[in-house]
Amino acid sequence: MKKWRCQVCGYVHDGDTPPENCPKCGAPQEKFAEIPEAESSLITRSRITNQLQMEFYSLLERIKEVAEMGVEDALDPACVSLFNQALKSATELQQSIKAEIAVHISKGKWG
Ligand SMILES: [Zn+2]
Repeated sequence: MKKWRCQVCGYVHDGDTPPENCPKCGAPQEKFAEIPEAESSLITRSRITNQLQMEFYSLLERIKEVAEMGVEDALDPACVSLFNQALKSATELQQSIKAEIAVHISKGKWG
């Protein structure tokens, strides 16, 4: 599918023609420029990856919740240690995901 970018705000529209007005900034149709095929397929590809990254991020959020419950439960030191380790790893992975997504945005691999 063709993609169009608002030259005013960067909003990306999927469709055969650009929208009447930009849904984000209200700019008229003529402010939209068609995104070249190579960049367009990169955007499509990146959407999938970015979606997976976000799904992964929310799963890690769930892991942190469970780990925190485990820490509070505090049955014995070995358990607490394991839950703390999970908490630390999940937090580090989340920070890595945020950094990766930031790179995608800065390189224009997001739209
Ligand atoms: Zn716009």
